[in-house]
Amino acid sequence: MKKYVCVPCQWIYDPEVGDPDGGIAPGTAFEDIPEDWVCPICGAGKDAFEVVED
Ligand SMILES: [Zn+2]
Repeated sequence: MKKYVCVPCQWIYDPEVGDPDGGIAPGTAFEDIPEDWVCPICGAGKDAFEVVED
C-alpha cells in the first residue's frame, strides 16, 4: 500500500500505522479512508493529499 503526504503540512499517512486517533485502523489503505476524514495535524481533507512515490 502506498503512503500519502498532506501537502499543506507534510504529514505522512502510513497505511501500516493508520490513524487510530481518527478512527482509521492500522492496515487501512488511503483509498479506503472515508471521504469525511481529515488530516489529524492541519484538518485538510483527503483531496489535499498526494501519493508518495518510493
Ligand atoms: Zn495536514
